[in-house]
Amino acid sequence: MRYGSSRKVLVTGGAGFLGSHLCDRLISQGHEVLCVDNFFTGTRRNIAHLLDNPRFELLRHDITHPLYVEADEIYNLACPASPIHYQFDPVQTTKTSVNGAINMLGLAKRVKAKIFQASTSEVYGDPELHPQPESYWGRVNPVGYRSCYDEGKRCAETLFFDYHRQHKLEIKVARIFNTYGPRMHPNDGRVVSNFIVQALKNEDITVYGEGLQTRAFCYVDDLIRGFLSLMETGPDVTGPVNIGNPEEFTIIKLAETVIRLTGSKSKIITRPLPPDDPRQRRPDISMAQNVLGWTPQIQLEEGLGKAISYFETFLSADKSSGAVR
Ligand code: NAD
Ligand code: UDP
Ligand code: UDP
Repeated sequence: MRYGSSRKVLVTGGAGFLGSHLCDRLISQGHEVLCVDNFFTGTRRNIAHLLDNPRFELLRHDITHPLYVEADEIYNLACPASPIHYQFDPVQTTKTSVNGAINMLGLAKRVKAKIFQASTSEVYGDPELHPQPESYWGRVNPVGYRSCYDEGKRCAETLFFDYHRQHKLEIKVARIFNTYGPRMHPNDGRVVSNFIVQALKNEDITVYGEGLQTRAFCYVDDLIRGFLSLMETGPDVTGPVNIGNPEEFTIIKLAETVIRLTGSKSKIITRPLPPDDPRQRRPDISMAQNVLGWTPQIQLEEGLGKAISYFETFLSADKSSGAVR
């Protein structure tokens, strides 16, 4: 299955925001990519430019069902990531994280593939410890609206570590913090895409609560570089490892920055804070820096500029085609 340095790589969730950027990077490195996606939140548009590439293959499949293919490496990214999408069908969200992980781990075990899990800062819940190191066990509500995602991802981590201990699988678990950039779904409700789209349309910017909650935002290219570095580490490096940008902002500050960078006439309005919304979040990235030699390089205003350009093009293409999304 391995020809020279080119590897056969399976990417689940490959038509999504992060997955499509990962597919791009893997193809540019000369690998064969099998992109598996059920198109719940991903779109063909994200990978349209890869469809003619002979090293790229697309398979519509739901990972809650078994999958029998060959691969040298697996990146398991399939799972809706935005609160409105993962809360739309919460039972399916848990099934995707848990049953999907079991299937992908079973596949990795059969073909002896190295397997990467896209975990999340949500495993820390609404944290009392700030910034969050990997050693922190988190503070997660097991029965709330975010639990399908948070507990699903926590269980997936457990499965990864048990397959590692019990079946000697080579695993790589990344805890991803809020990431943004081109190909985010314009209507998926995440804060960066919401604010940019609202600003470009001169609509009200919806800040939830007082906007004093914090997040730290990583630009997608930095994140994907972190994924690839983690996958390249030796078998002893399992993670979990935080990957994110440690520069922390309040949500109100993000809204003001987006208004300034877009030159928008939008006004900031407030909306109720969703239940269990974490008050603060910032990664401790010492482990990624020490073990992977990885540090994010693109700071917020530069990354927002790239995301704004993407959404400008996206919205004007939509307008001229009369599309309704
Ligand atoms: P996304 O919603 O754009 O992508 C998820 C992809 O998975 C979509 O293409 C979707 O159609 C697909 N999918 C969902 N359920 C599936 C299933 N059962 N079978 C097959 N495909 C399925 O989200 P994203 O931002 O690209 O996130 C990718 C991964 O990274 C997710 O696992 C998410 O939990 C994790 N993550 C992302 C962030 C972030 O800030 N973007 C933060 C933490 C963790
Ligand atoms: N599986 C899969 N593809 C494979 C191998 C396994 O989808 O190539 C699924 C299979 O359906 C199984 C799950 O992965 O339910 C877990 O596999 P494992 O071998 O760990 O356990 P078992 O087969 O004993 O349930
Ligand atoms: N948020 C907001 N307005 C929006 C969307 C989100 O104020 O239009 C807030 C949300 O309440 C949260 C933060 O921005 O405090 C990040 O939200 P997102 O859904 O992007 O990610 P997560 O909550 O999963 O970190």
